[in-house]
Amino acid sequence: MFIAWSWIAGLLIGAAIGSFLNVVIYRTPRGISLSNPKNSFCPSCKHRLTTLDLFPLFSWLFLRGKCRHCGSKVSSRYFFVELITGSIWAGLWYQYLVVTWDPAKGIAYACAAAALVTIIFIDWELYIIPDQVNAWLLVFGLAYDGWLIATHKPGAWTWGMPSAIAGALVGIAALWGIAFLGRLVFRKDAMGHGDIKMARGIGAVLFPAAAGISFGLAVIMGAVFGIAQVFIFRSKEDEPEVVTGGEQGDLAVAEQREEEEYPPESIGSLLKSGIGYVLCFDIIGLFFPSFYKTWYGEDPYEPISEATGFEVERTMIPFGPYLALGAILAAVFEARLLGYVNTYIHWATRGATFLEQLNLRGRL
Ligand SMILES: [Zn+2]
Repeated sequence: MFIAWSWIAGLLIGAAIGSFLNVVIYRTPRGISLSNPKNSFCPSCKHRLTTLDLFPLFSWLFLRGKCRHCGSKVSSRYFFVELITGSIWAGLWYQYLVVTWDPAKGIAYACAAAALVTIIFIDWELYIIPDQVNAWLLVFGLAYDGWLIATHKPGAWTWGMPSAIAGALVGIAALWGIAFLGRLVFRKDAMGHGDIKMARGIGAVLFPAAAGISFGLAVIMGAVFGIAQVFIFRSKEDEPEVVTGGEQGDLAVAEQREEEEYPPESIGSLLKSGIGYVLCFDIIGLFFPSFYKTWYGEDPYEPISEATGFEVERTMIPFGPYLALGAILAAVFEARLLGYVNTYIHWATRGATFLEQLNLRGRL
């Protein structure tokens, strides 16, 4: 085991990874290759950036969020992605290299956390979750479980199948289930498909028990912050929108009509997508775009409309960031959270623990 203050190494490595994630966050949804152009450039003056501009955390602080060459503003997102990734990696470092010695889990969770940070910032800005990033989550989970199986470690198997696959199925069942119920009961699109694919990846990495806890955390955070967000934006929007007549009024009516005419996804299509996610057709489709198009009816590599032209409904609640945040919390505080849940269930059922019945004891 490493000494306690070695978590600083985790912070620095994480911040450097965060610097790379900034590139992924900017380029992936815009259809720009990660390797071409090889060097980062200022979006404003196109000046090639060097280490001086790109040094994690410090560059943004010392340059006060401005481009060194043209002086245009650099989004604080660059700094926060580095800080957040660094903090998570420091936490994982401390948890799996200092408190307990489980480097394999630490590496798997750190890779997954990097993918989840990427998802949080892309989804937050553009309301999409790229398939490629979701696919990476699944790859990390399967690789970790493959290693557990190969080295005969406890927790490798759940319900007679590899734990990563069991977790992936739990993830699809939970989120696709919400989407399906929402469609049946409220006749509305309750869940984005990106969220279902992300839950599959989270399940694969965290395995069923911790994944279940992470979904619970996501629902709680989504409910608390989501309701607060709707109230804050509604009270702000109410004031200027008293004008009902004239051009603005017509626009509002037209917008409302458009919303009403937008039909929810058909049950058949929802079922077809669900089967596709279980069989990982979306991931196969990343390598065979025509196959993807045949099954899902859209192009997997189609870049989204440019961010500036993208109108975001402010009362819309993206669930993706909460799902990702829940998974990150579950990864860092896994042992403690599983302990809490098990204690509660033990108390609630007076003895026979639910987790034991589910054959998840190896995870505790
Ligand atoms: Zn510049």
